[in-house]
Amino acid sequence: MKYSQGIFSDSYKLTPKKFDYYAATSLDEALSLLQEKEDAKILAGGQSLLALMKLRLAAPQALIDISKIEDLSYVREERGYLAIGALTIHDLIEHNETIRKRFTLLADAASKIGDQQIRNRGTIGGSACHADPAADLPTALLAANAQFVIRGHSGQRVVPAEEFFVDTFTTAVQPNEVLTEIRIPEFPPKTGSGYIKHSRREGDFAIVGVGAVVTLADGNICKDVRIGLGSVAATPIRAKAAEDYLRGKPLDDKTIIEAAERGPQGADPPSDMHGSREYRLEMIKVFIKRTVKLALTRV
Ligand SMILES: Cc1cc2nc3c(=O)[nH]c(=O)nc-3n(C[C@H](O)[C@H](O)[C@H](O)COP(=O)(O)OP(=O)(O)OC[C@H]3O[C@@H](n4cnc5c(N)ncnc54)[C@H](O)[C@@H]3O)c2cc1C
Repeated sequence: MKYSQGIFSDSYKLTPKKFDYYAATSLDEALSLLQEKEDAKILAGGQSLLALMKLRLAAPQALIDISKIEDLSYVREERGYLAIGALTIHDLIEHNETIRKRFTLLADAASKIGDQQIRNRGTIGGSACHADPAADLPTALLAANAQFVIRGHSGQRVVPAEEFFVDTFTTAVQPNEVLTEIRIPEFPPKTGSGYIKHSRREGDFAIVGVGAVVTLADGNICKDVRIGLGSVAATPIRAKAAEDYLRGKPLDDKTIIEAAERGPQGADPPSDMHGSREYRLEMIKVFIKRTVKLALTRV
């Protein structure tokens, strides 16, 4: 399915179809409501869902507001991973000290989302579940090898990023489930990361977004690398050919340029008002180069 950006610009003039509203005060209550109510949807920050409803691209019969569930907003270090509650807003991701120092690509990505009002309301869980291929955090989460904790009535499951993003606006979260937490496995020593968004204007959706996590062995040799690409396919994807080229090689300019040339393999970008398919394919190369270099400066 092809997608198009910029559909939100006129949504403020419109009204959604009638719906019932329920404010859940706990995760269990939200799960029960999801089970009971016909055609119900979770409402988190409302920054994407309400726009879709106003445009009548979504018309759920019931909204279950989880934004008041306090224990779903946190950033905490657990053994071996960083845990981020699904309701953590973009502004907190941008400014959290641990994320800025050790998982920098997530702070980079959050800082580039829309404007300050959107970053004050939009949540990391909402961004992941909305699964817009042009969104910033999903691309960074894929590069960071995130794991997604999903709760349903029958229990909890943990889904890796590679399986979480299924298609445009479609994830592994089922209609009767709630995403509760995102886990970022601890990066190894000598790792640096970054995310760069290429857009026409500050606050626009990405024409191309690139996230990179680079781990060095001795002597500037690339021990491991993960590169996520956004806005170039139906879901965020990995630039696996570029990654394969980099592993085991010294990370000098020539190697990074050669790797970036392989970046578009596997991408299937759309043409739209923000840029043609051909332009996006070229920009993948430019921004892989810049993002890998940025990550290197942070090792
Ligand atoms: C003008 C504008 C500009 C924007 N610019 C950008 C941008 O530059 N980059 C970018 O990445 N994003 C951008 N966004 C989107 C923004 O990041 C949203 O915050 C995000 O996409 C959705 O988060 P939310 O918490 O508002 O989710 P909501 O809108 O409340 O929900 C989105 C979807 O996710 C589901 N959902 C939410 N939370 C959960 C959960 N915990 N479990 C299960 N399902 C859940 C909802 O049912 C819904 O289907 C923009 C939005 C607007 C309005």
